[in-house]
Amino acid sequence: MTHSVLPIAPEVDVIEKTFSALQARAPKQRALTAKERVQRLDALYAEIWKRRDDLKQAMWKDFRKPAEEVDLTEIFVIKSEIKAVKRGLRKWMRPKRVPGGLAQVGSASWVRPEAKGVALIISPWNYPMQLVFRPLVAAIAAGCTAVIKPSELTGATAQVVAEIVSNAFSEDEVAVVQGGVETSTHLLNLPFNHIYFTGSPAVGKIVMKAAAQHPCSVTLELGGKSPVIVDDMKSMKDAAKKIAWAKLSNAGQICVAPDYVFVPTHRKDDFVGAVKEAMLEMYPGEIDGNKDFQRIVAPHHAERISKLVDDAVARGAKMVLGGGAEADACLVPPTILTGVDPNAAVLEEEIFGPVLPILTYDAFGEVEQFVNARPTPLALYVFSKRKPFVSKVLSEIQSGGASINNCVIHVSSNHLPFGGLGNSGIGSGHGEYGFTEFTHLRGVYEQRFDGAGALLMPPYSAWKTKLIDRLLRWL
Ligand code: NAD
Repeated sequence: MTHSVLPIAPEVDVIEKTFSALQARAPKQRALTAKERVQRLDALYAEIWKRRDDLKQAMWKDFRKPAEEVDLTEIFVIKSEIKAVKRGLRKWMRPKRVPGGLAQVGSASWVRPEAKGVALIISPWNYPMQLVFRPLVAAIAAGCTAVIKPSELTGATAQVVAEIVSNAFSEDEVAVVQGGVETSTHLLNLPFNHIYFTGSPAVGKIVMKAAAQHPCSVTLELGGKSPVIVDDMKSMKDAAKKIAWAKLSNAGQICVAPDYVFVPTHRKDDFVGAVKEAMLEMYPGEIDGNKDFQRIVAPHHAERISKLVDDAVARGAKMVLGGGAEADACLVPPTILTGVDPNAAVLEEEIFGPVLPILTYDAFGEVEQFVNARPTPLALYVFSKRKPFVSKVLSEIQSGGASINNCVIHVSSNHLPFGGLGNSGIGSGHGEYGFTEFTHLRGVYEQRFDGAGALLMPPYSAWKTKLIDRLLRWL
């Protein structure tokens, strides 16, 4: 099976040749049985498992990702995604019979789930293995061939990913094309049958525009600002700990990281104290030497986050925790901001770093107005012990997904659709939802014996006109 890994940023003719091979293979791939698709997924996981240590080393090199978190948030996620496919695939692939109406008398109709063809998967850097392989598992389950374009910012991991794929698949089934914007642009000019893009809303728009050239369907897994709304609760400790963990895991570089928090004004001090305590408990001592605290992926991103903090402070925000960021070392320490000016950039742009602005409210209406005046978030979090409060939040504020009394964990489920709305995305991944994105639902109709339709063809004699009139009245 092993084939050679493509050079980084390959020439356009290499990209086109790779695409043609995948296109030629697509009809055979579509015809694979559930068993054959599962065999490929097993081969993929076997290669991932073999390269577990290399993946850990690569992610440490890319952005000092702790080895334990590579196991938990990358490898385990793919293992569980493959398991979900193995459990459900036969059922998902089965053609579904559907009833007919009067016009279809004498017929049978069914819906055949079929692979769309050649898929393009473009991924970001923040989970450099998970966000490449989770869509790939869905594409293979659906019977597509695929090109993967991993992020150039996590190049060490992208190389291991390319080697894993070259050992698990033949070169006309799955290809990894490494490179930056130019490579991505070349790929986007090709007539793919589906594009599964994970990344920023700004690039998502470029992808959608490119897809219109051919045209093909898109899944856009984008980002944005995911708010947390904390109710007035007896103790703030549990909420504070979960929010602190979700904000600092991956150094805040999570598409569904809690971006900012709203707490009742009279509980602010309680909450801020509890979040600070939780952050210091999880990451004690000098943050620079803490092996559990991840780095920002690149100096320019660390600088971007530091500027957000500086701008907020210059506009009067108080830094309750933080300071001492070193852009060159890609280090932004855990940061808590209070008293933030609503016009500060930190409340406008997706933070994507370990910085938590805490805002206050006196009445829920203020929260509703603030969040709904901004683009629809990818996730919405509510911490409350009161069901009516939770219902109010869910019914009055839209979001891609939501968690009650926890943050981020909903993403790990293979049974929930995961995706955004508007600026936070189009379509959903995970489990059967991912399979469906790469699948065309083909409606098939078979005439077994002739029904009324055959009687109603021209010429329209008087009795036919009468019959049509009766049918219309009777139906
Ligand atoms: P990005 O949009 O900058 O890059 C994503 C991919 O697109 C990369 O592979 C990159 O090479 C490519 N790309 C960049 N510019 C391009 C262009 N002009 N034309 C064509 N391709 C281009 O995103 P990022 O910085 O890698 O990731 C962070 C963003 O991704 C955040 O907004 C985050 O919220 C989002 N994200 C979303 C999810 C999700 O599942 N919804 C998951 C992770 C990250």
